[in-house]
Amino acid sequence: MGLDTRAALRRCGSALLALVTSTGLLATDAASADGTPAKELFGARALPTVAAPTSYGFYSKGCLSGGIAIPTDGPTWQAMRLSRNRRWGHPEMIALIERFSHDAAAKIGWPGLLLGDISQPRGGPMLSGHASHQIGLDADIWLTPMPQKTLSYQERESISATSMLDKSKFLTIDRSVWTPSHARLIMLAASYPEVERVFVNPAIKKKLCDTWRGDRAALGKVRPIYGHDYHFHIRIKCPAGSQGCKDQAAVPAGDGCDKSLAWWFTDAPWAKPKKKPGEKPPKPKFATLSDLPKACTLVLNGPAPASEQQATFGTAYRAPAAIPAAATSIEAVIGAAAETPLAEIPVPLPRPALQ
Ligand SMILES: [Zn+2]
Repeated sequence: MGLDTRAALRRCGSALLALVTSTGLLATDAASADGTPAKELFGARALPTVAAPTSYGFYSKGCLSGGIAIPTDGPTWQAMRLSRNRRWGHPEMIALIERFSHDAAAKIGWPGLLLGDISQPRGGPMLSGHASHQIGLDADIWLTPMPQKTLSYQERESISATSMLDKSKFLTIDRSVWTPSHARLIMLAASYPEVERVFVNPAIKKKLCDTWRGDRAALGKVRPIYGHDYHFHIRIKCPAGSQGCKDQAAVPAGDGCDKSLAWWFTDAPWAKPKKKPGEKPPKPKFATLSDLPKACTLVLNGPAPASEQQATFGTAYRAPAAIPAAATSIEAVIGAAAETPLAEIPVPLPRPALQ
């Protein structure tokens, strides 16, 4: 069978799957037999599976049912890169982002969050970008504060985030862009009990190690990693009720300002892997549906809401009537973060039409 024929058959298979899904029929493992990369299958789903909210598998190998989307606009956030359709998550993740954005404004004066990728409607691997973000429990938050104005669809596609690094030096914070508010924002994110890790660039972690005078245990959740100088990444624990969700090992005790951080400032993490003469680079291996938890086949092929209007959106969080005055100390910021109540009644916010 020629390549073209195979590609045509594959396209045909995808169309069939889409049809099966749109009619609400459940194709059991129709897609698992062929070797289509799972990222193509999950990347093609525009809406979530209607089912109980459940995260299946691990952050970097799994999927999500019953996902909800964060509204594109809230009082203290704007979602970016709307064309990617990655503002879906487990309802607990969406609630956390909404609450965090409100707390950041009320307690540290951060004018609002610009939201990067959360997950695809059904989670799963993505065609571009991340290894994780597959189960609706990871979210990227820009380190650029939200502007006063409502950004247009086009601006949300094109505006760039700001790096916190001085690119003329090795792993060094750019003092002209980094502020104590950035430190407070990251540490506020780390202060929530459900937040298990916050990923940042090693230079940012070092800056926090050197300057943070608040809770050092929360600092231990802030983990150095490649990139993450334009945004930071919040990861929450497996929610209760997600039996198929695989928890990550707890972070080691302590603030993490130790050898594990010092390693990033050596040559080791940046050295190019040595190649033997004549050795070919390894072929990239893409996960197929059969590499993911079994439930992900059902999630992929499960029924979607009839339209985007019928999909479920966030805003279960409602700001308290009285917004507390800006906190006067970092300890107050961290202490108060656990106290703001979650409202029970979801209040949908208007979503601007895509232009
Ligand atoms: Zn991320």
